[in-house]
Amino acid sequence: MAGCCRWPRWAGILAPTARCRAPSSSSKQKSPPISPPGSVLLDAGKHHGLLVTTGGWSGTDRPSASNRLPGLFVAHEHYALLYRLARRPAPARTRVELEVSNKFVPGPLVVHNTIGEILGKEKPDEFVVIGAHLDSWDLGQGTLDNGTGTAVVLETARLLARCGTAPKRTLRFVLFTGEEQGLHGSRAYVARHKAELPRTSACIVHDTGTGKVIGLGWFGRPALKPILEAELAMLKEVGVTQPHARGFGGSDHVPFDRAGVPGAHCLQEIAGYRFAHHTQADTLEMVREADLVQGAQVLAVSAMRIANLPKLLPREKR
Ligand SMILES: [Zn+2]
Repeated sequence: MAGCCRWPRWAGILAPTARCRAPSSSSKQKSPPISPPGSVLLDAGKHHGLLVTTGGWSGTDRPSASNRLPGLFVAHEHYALLYRLARRPAPARTRVELEVSNKFVPGPLVVHNTIGEILGKEKPDEFVVIGAHLDSWDLGQGTLDNGTGTAVVLETARLLARCGTAPKRTLRFVLFTGEEQGLHGSRAYVARHKAELPRTSACIVHDTGTGKVIGLGWFGRPALKPILEAELAMLKEVGVTQPHARGFGGSDHVPFDRAGVPGAHCLQEIAGYRFAHHTQADTLEMVREADLVQGAQVLAVSAMRIANLPKLLPREKR
């Protein structure tokens, strides 16, 4: 989830001589002169020595870019040690030696969204999109971000395809790609399916790990509230207390919302997400199977009820 991927950008800037600079905003002591930086160290911001991978490509951190300053994540405990050392008054100096081995793949790379659909029986050219992102980072297995969302979307598709009742509108299940580098898959979908957007009722994504779904966040849109509270009232039975909540950005529902399509993300119990996502601890052990079943129940009911409404969901934001 991109929104959950924002980390403090301040870092000690290491000069080619590997000198570490203390943050000027938090220290009144005069900093020693600094030569041009050789790298930026970033606090991984996780517990227990976990590392983290995150961030979009701004175009300045690719090998072909003129600014080739690499950013390196450091375990929080190591970062804190460097910070304390760097705060010592002059003439003390902190020297750090870095050894980085890396591999660059020439780009651009072609990647794909994965899409399946259940055709609507009355309005096949109107849509409800249910999504999650298939891409991840490679420190762990990417279970919580976003293997769990992917599994929930696939299970939702499987059970609706088998339930024996076709929806009124077409249900489209999308596993987006390139979410982590900047919502590339969903932005491309919105651009490529522009003509369909006025006929797309909603997009709902599952992208906060394994935790039980307790609500749907719709970026405001008060006009949706009475409709969803009535249509999704039965989800209370499985723990959804807020079928219309405020919600926030940071995932593949955002490009839809910006293009005028009501976009929501599942509000979920946190269930270890903050601890493990984007780290080497994001492994299969983090899964809570019962909660994924609940997630598929919530998405299946939501998708079907919204697809079967007499009209498309209202578009107004206020
Ligand atoms: Zn994610």
